[in-house]
Amino acid sequence: SETILKVEDLCVQFPTADGLVNAVNGLSYTLDQGKTLAIVGESGSGKSVSSMAVMGLHDPKRTRISGSIELDGTEMVRASSSVMRRMRSSTVSMIFQDPQSSFHPFKKIGPQIAEGYLAHHKVSKSVAMKRAVEMLDRVGIPNPDRRAKQYPHEFSGGMRQRAMIALGLINDPRLLIADEPTTALDVTVQAQILDLLNDLQREFGSAIVLITHDLAVVAEVADDVMVMYGGRAVEHGTAKEVLATPRHPYTWGLLGSVPKLSAKGGNLRTIRGLPPSLINLPTGCSFHPRCDFMDRVGGGLCSKELPALEVRGGDSTRTSRCHLADPGGIFDAEIASTLE
Ligand code: SF4
Ligand code: MG
Repeated sequence: SETILKVEDLCVQFPTADGLVNAVNGLSYTLDQGKTLAIVGESGSGKSVSSMAVMGLHDPKRTRISGSIELDGTEMVRASSSVMRRMRSSTVSMIFQDPQSSFHPFKKIGPQIAEGYLAHHKVSKSVAMKRAVEMLDRVGIPNPDRRAKQYPHEFSGGMRQRAMIALGLINDPRLLIADEPTTALDVTVQAQILDLLNDLQREFGSAIVLITHDLAVVAEVADDVMVMYGGRAVEHGTAKEVLATPRHPYTWGLLGSVPKLSAKGGNLRTIRGLPPSLINLPTGCSFHPRCDFMDRVGGGLCSKELPALEVRGGDSTRTSRCHLADPGGIFDAEIASTLE
């Protein structure tokens, strides 16, 4: 199928008073039309920064960026701001964790969504408003005519999130980037929003990049998953494989913190320590200061040499970035049982 997004060796750095922040360090991935890729990691893993770069939303004065981001055939890394604007109107759109910050508090919802359409289409206000009401209807907001005339504070959190999805989809983007779209919502509403994204994807055929720290969300909606740590992908494959037989110790830790995927509840593994400094990334494998499995790798390799992201153990197309010789065996022997 057709590739909508091709990221190659993307590096994003921010000079600061404390030093150079290495936010994204050689990231490569592709996404095909109609597919959902979940990018998973803690804050500071590079998942949001890399996606802002896809949107062309990084501040060019404060950002050093290299590599390639090919969005529907257009190179975004060296694109002019007018090309980026055009891509944001025709091709890619983003929804955020906090709809409150995306909607002006003192303007009615309907006109705000209509503005998104008017910005990129030469139509009358009433046509744009009609389109906005249609979109509110399609994202499952009851009485969309009446709702369109209300202010953001009159919407519940879940309804505001739906309204933001309506705004995100109003220009029929080929790629939708959703940054933690359900994090602020309670579990029931989260599930409804994820179902909605699934339905809309089927209807609109868009590709979705779903940014999340939550592997339970991935299990619901993603075709593929890429786990990021310290600005690099550490594991990447189909959601099915990565969730069932993960190969990277960091993914094991993330899985251990998902109660839903762990029936025993009380026996969770969590990841000790803190995310790495992006100014002074650890040598070798960036995860080594937090990893419980370094002693399984000989020669102090973990702190000396950055593992390549590659297919390991001949199992399918999934790649991982770890020196362990037999991660599958370790997972089966000791991790899987703690997750059951
Ligand atoms: Fe752990 Fe070493 Fe694998 Fe890094 S390379 S995840 S430190 S075992
Ligand atoms: Mg984020």
